[in-house]
Amino acid sequence: MAGRKQGISILVVMQGEYERERIAGLLRKAVSAVFTAADGREGLRSYRDNHPDVVFTDIVLPVLDGPDMIAMIRGEDEDMPFIVAYDQYNPKALLNVLELNIDAFLRLPADPSKLLDAVRRCARAVYLRRKLAQADRMLWNLLDAFPGMALLELKGQVVYANQRMAAYLGYPSFDHFRAGGARIADRILRLNGEEYTGGPSGWITAIVEDQLDRDAVVHLDNPGNPSGRPGVFAVTFATFQNTPLRLFSFQDISELEDEKDLLADEASTDPLTKAMNRRSFLRLLGTEIIVGRPFSLVMFDIDHFKSINDEYGHDVGDAVLREISQLVRENIRETDRLVRWGGEEFMVLAPASDMDRVRQVAERLRQAVEDFSFSGVPRTVTSSFGIVEYVRGESQDEFIKRVDEALYRAKETGRNRVMEG
Ligand code: GH3
Ligand code: MG
Ligand code: MG
Repeated sequence: MAGRKQGISILVVMQGEYERERIAGLLRKAVSAVFTAADGREGLRSYRDNHPDVVFTDIVLPVLDGPDMIAMIRGEDEDMPFIVAYDQYNPKALLNVLELNIDAFLRLPADPSKLLDAVRRCARAVYLRRKLAQADRMLWNLLDAFPGMALLELKGQVVYANQRMAAYLGYPSFDHFRAGGARIADRILRLNGEEYTGGPSGWITAIVEDQLDRDAVVHLDNPGNPSGRPGVFAVTFATFQNTPLRLFSFQDISELEDEKDLLADEASTDPLTKAMNRRSFLRLLGTEIIVGRPFSLVMFDIDHFKSINDEYGHDVGDAVLREISQLVRENIRETDRLVRWGGEEFMVLAPASDMDRVRQVAERLRQAVEDFSFSGVPRTVTSSFGIVEYVRGESQDEFIKRVDEALYRAKETGRNRVMEG
């Protein structure tokens, strides 16, 4: 027999006193605590009172049968290791527990070395569980230190939400939130501008599988807010190596949404393209700079647009401006804002976006324009792009000048391309 199993406790549930005490006696030499019970109900009570690491039980028990007791315990702890004993004269009883994913079986009367083998196997599972729980706790602590709202998801289930997230949901911790049977999905009112009907894990799939990486705006119920307005969050996710765990972070963009509502009036919209006009854009840009999050800007200009007007007429030119605006809107996030800067020059303000993202966005837009067949224009239309990420401290004018220069270089070096400023 191996050394004493430090810290392992076992519950022995068996009706026959003689065999129960013999097994308990053998186990006492090997583990640090042994509890005993004579029927299923007593076993269940002892399990709840004593929190054993392993349960050893007979199949046939009075009051509450072995399989029923096992199922009830598994209902409370699906990973609980079980050693199941069966009478050598009644092996058919085994059929009742085959579904229950038992860790070890033992024929009665129990052979001491086989008993200890089974315990050793279960102990290994217990140690592994404790190690994992420790690693989890470290990860949880790390997430709690994260400055924003974040949660960890594993195979469609939220396994942890950090303290900020729990506080937003109105609970002191995620455990408290979950203890009431609540799920994050219950708090999602809207996903990407539409009423949320995706069930417990539909939102995860929708965000993870969005190929265009654009729509990840979630409206979360916010009962803590006296105004009753839901919070609006830009949700992004990250994956890790060697584990299917995913980290979702929620960035509060409620104030930008408020700003967006304010700007939704006609005075701020260009009538031809329905894009935001220059004046409103400058106001929004000012807000972004004050909020102080990373954000980026795309500026683009249609190539040789003058020749489109000249060859196909001004009305066709207007239609191209309208169609290109719609095309861009379909290819950016809900939180990105399209701006008509003037003539055939546009901007896309991309909140919470760095150069990597905005490079992808611009490249996607460039390709989309090139691939699109515009009404009344029997040839390819292209456009040139400048992109910049805001540098803390620079003025609005400097920032715009940088993107303008990047666009200029895209024109200079041959058009239909993206240049970084
Ligand atoms: P580049 O590749 O260098 O950008 O060449 P371009 O011809 O696009 O540039 P340029 O600035 O010379 O021409 C812009 C044209 O856009 C001139 C102007 O008549 C036209 N334009 C500006 N606003 C509108 C509009 O609202 N409707 C139409 N149809 N044309 C417009
Ligand atoms: Mg042009
Ligand atoms: Mg121009």
